[in-house]
Amino acid sequence: MYNSDAELLHYIRSNDPEEIEALFAAARKVREEHYGNDVYFRGLIEFTNHCKNNCYYCGIRRDNVRVERYRLSTEEILNCCRMGDLLGYRTFVLQGGEDPYLTDDRIVEMLEAIRRVYPDHAITLSIGERSRKSYERFFRAGTNRYLLRHETASDEHYRKLHPSSMSLAERKQCLRDLKDIGYQVGAGFMVGTPWQSNENLLEDLRFIEELEPQMVGIGPFIPQQDTPFGSMPGGSLELSLKMVALTRLLLPKALIPATTALGSISPQGRERGLMAGANVVMPNLSPKAVRKLYALYDNKICTGDEAAECRLCMEGRIRNYGFMPNMARGDAVGFSPVA
Ligand code: SAH
Repeated sequence: MYNSDAELLHYIRSNDPEEIEALFAAARKVREEHYGNDVYFRGLIEFTNHCKNNCYYCGIRRDNVRVERYRLSTEEILNCCRMGDLLGYRTFVLQGGEDPYLTDDRIVEMLEAIRRVYPDHAITLSIGERSRKSYERFFRAGTNRYLLRHETASDEHYRKLHPSSMSLAERKQCLRDLKDIGYQVGAGFMVGTPWQSNENLLEDLRFIEELEPQMVGIGPFIPQQDTPFGSMPGGSLELSLKMVALTRLLLPKALIPATTALGSISPQGRERGLMAGANVVMPNLSPKAVRKLYALYDNKICTGDEAAECRLCMEGRIRNYGFMPNMARGDAVGFSPVA
């Protein structure tokens, strides 16, 4: 029912409320079969906003001179982990720009420091493209998961969003390397980026289906004023939700976050993401002082809150919609790590 190109495109295009609600209901049902009503919590630590890349959509791109740059020390990161652990988190997600100061040695040192204190927590890394050798070192240092959105699965479209120094082929290679090494891998894409067509979104779904990542991050594109796309229109909530639902139907066991970007374009965007088949939330654990500086896009939510507020706020929101917070590590079902 949701398999052929024609059917998928039909839903991507649809604006029939009844049909869309039926799609969301189908996605919820599939999610419930594998995960019940549980929503997994991941503590997000945005530990550097330095970046050598120049993606046209991103607020922390290299050429944005208006963003004040920061980088957390290992000690500061450990403090975030300590707070996160107290709040019940069993997954730490370490995300940042592609920061040249953070050599493999420095990343490994950070990972080992976290691993030493938290032998049982899941560590998720999200620091962009590195060599297979680097990914292997990070894995040996105790990293369990890696988030690297492919952003768009169309070569032509990818070139419109990135400078010529970047390529989709390389990004896809990174994703394959990560899977091969034994990470639980998260791919994903933005919805409503400039010049994105419905066919491009279909390509995203087909790519996800073929790669079979354990996690899929989907969020609307939101303009950031100091980027080349600053005055472009953003992606819509409805279309983003439909893509979450279709992804759930194609990959029933995936861990799919109701993203911060969804919550940033609509007051109940994340709850609606859960109602469309998502089953993960990633409340922020970064120190309050740096929250505003990790400005990928304008009007990002939760930039003024303490970690504890985010944790409680999210739990309340989830319960309001009939979901159950689950603070366990929450590895992907059916994932068997290589030895
Ligand atoms: N450097 C890391 C992390 C990037 S930031 C990496 O390359 O993976 C995490 C995600 O934020 C990106 O993958 C992108 O999909 C999203 N993002 C960046 N700018 C955005 C914008 N303007 N609107 C919405 N999402 C954005």
